[in-house]
Amino acid sequence: MLGINIGIDLGTTAVVIFVQGKGIVLSEPTAAAYNSKNGKMLAVGKKAYNMLGKNPSSIRVVLPIREGVVSDFSAMQNILRYHLQKICGNMVFKPNILICLPSTVTNLEKRTILDLAISAGAGKACLIEEPLAAALGAGVEINRPKGVMVVDIGGGSADIAVLTMGSISVSKSIKTAGNAFDAAIMRYFRRERDVIIGDRTAEKIKMKIGCAYLRHAELAIQVKGKNYITGMPAKLEVSSTDIYLAIREQLELLCDAVRSVLESTPPELSADIAESGIILTGGGALLRGMDELIKQKTGVKTSVAEEPLLCVAKGIGKVLKNSDMLSQSGLMFKTAEEIRGYKD
Ligand code: ADP
Ligand code: MG
Repeated sequence: MLGINIGIDLGTTAVVIFVQGKGIVLSEPTAAAYNSKNGKMLAVGKKAYNMLGKNPSSIRVVLPIREGVVSDFSAMQNILRYHLQKICGNMVFKPNILICLPSTVTNLEKRTILDLAISAGAGKACLIEEPLAAALGAGVEINRPKGVMVVDIGGGSADIAVLTMGSISVSKSIKTAGNAFDAAIMRYFRRERDVIIGDRTAEKIKMKIGCAYLRHAELAIQVKGKNYITGMPAKLEVSSTDIYLAIREQLELLCDAVRSVLESTPPELSADIAESGIILTGGGALLRGMDELIKQKTGVKTSVAEEPLLCVAKGIGKVLKNSDMLSQSGLMFKTAEEIRGYKD
């Protein structure tokens, strides 16, 4: 195949890009900023995300797959084109691109994204299922007739899957993930403390003192927001217990989903999982105590993969390096005509 192989983890929160022969070359928020008057693109990635919540009305910041659904295809295309241009601007042959999308994205949206990848500069494109990529990136051997369970907790969705012989046996995708924790923290502030905070502040609080269990040694931080009643700037202290109580319901929903996948897992695979344990990937796996909580709720030992934020991209990289794996998983790079089913 002519052209270099590139892997893209197109997550709801971050775009992570793997280039064959180089490794992971980029990890940036899935965001773009536009001039609201003339629609001109002003920034992509980190620069655009840093404007979020602080942008004047003349600037529109778009997070095109915030809720696990592609809500803005044109922003998605701009983001892909911008990153691809940076990576392969002076390449002679167009790259082959293997893309991983959140499982919540519908089949029609998936096809559209493939089409966008081609129009953004790919020669051929192909999709890979997220749980497969996550498991490979976590270092799991997936081609054996042995059940493994991977729980990828991203921003907009959590994907729970049981894999065996390189395929998904049982899976479930829910929208309770990182963003849902942030939203629960925002609701807590509004309801209990009469303060409105932005989603970036909520995310920072979650990362600093968020916890999946009630800590014995409480942590506390100062938070700035806006008083909901007076409309004035507000400063207050919040503890790790407050945050745990705020996100407890979402944590329960996540654990219920893991349990329900285990319940519908065939017994032989279940027995394998009891032995090999549950592997957590995605940024949500970094919430303190997430592994311990899932272990408690399922009775199955649970561990966090190394570099959980990069697992999917590393997994795509492994597939790209190994052409046998590519064909074993039934992955085929397709040209624009093959994707669209017609010639322009
Ligand atoms: P996606 O695949 O949807 O792009 P990621 O796997 O990149 O998502 O994970 C992003 C999510 O992980 C965000 O909701 C972010 O807040 C969360 N996250 C990242 N680091 C941490 C952390 N240290 N503690 C808790 N949550 C985290
Ligand atoms: Mg992801």
